[in-house]
Amino acid sequence: MTSTTDQWPQLDVIAVGAHPDDVEIACGGTLAMLVKQGYRIGIIDLTDGEPTPLSAGPEIRLAEAKAAAGILGAAVRVTLDLPNRRLFDSFEARVLLAKEFRKYRPKIVIGFGDKTPLASPDHWQAMQITDAAVFYSRLTKWDEHFDNLPVHAIQSQLYFRLAFEPETLAGFPSHFTVDISQTLEQKIEAVRCYQTQFPPGKAHVFDRIRGAAMLCGAAANFAAGEVFVSTRPLGSLDLVKTALPRMQAT
Ligand SMILES: [Zn+2]
Repeated sequence: MTSTTDQWPQLDVIAVGAHPDDVEIACGGTLAMLVKQGYRIGIIDLTDGEPTPLSAGPEIRLAEAKAAAGILGAAVRVTLDLPNRRLFDSFEARVLLAKEFRKYRPKIVIGFGDKTPLASPDHWQAMQITDAAVFYSRLTKWDEHFDNLPVHAIQSQLYFRLAFEPETLAGFPSHFTVDISQTLEQKIEAVRCYQTQFPPGKAHVFDRIRGAAMLCGAAANFAAGEVFVSTRPLGSLDLVKTALPRMQAT
């Protein structure tokens, strides 16, 4: 009998989006940085993101998503078969995502952490589904719902912001900024893969992504950054290294 470890690559981090391009816009620089640092990362899109106004169809969007995952260095990208534009938190959606967590066994899951007014309501539903799936992933005595995949306890759950404004999420105790100075261009290249979503008429989006990353980074003394929320307070084993992350060990 083969184990999950043999069948599916075991990942350090999985980022979950509602649509292909969410994850790139929200935390593409961080994912590319994690890969540089030797971690194995995966992306799960809950829907194929189609239809959209300018796309020829799901095949094109999937090809764009595959190209973007390649630029970031993702080991895995999974597109689940949930419906775009009418994504709703449901038992079935929670189980579908939890099964992916049980296969790929990430230590950390990153996903939506807030509503996105004026953008797709699928994002808010994606947050509910992800929260529940993180919990479902570790539940015992429920194997029949998960194709008998072994339980997996995710150790940390983080929230990203999708919007371009570099604001923080209200009501959470631990915000932190990841330095993406080395991977900002990779992030933008990954978003550029979505030509159906960001045609020449929407080229301003790339400037806004760059501007938001620079502003987020500046607040933490980095050239560029992405802000996250930890759903639990973050601890520190070394106050100096936490307070001065760029300090070189001497
Ligand atoms: Zn989206």
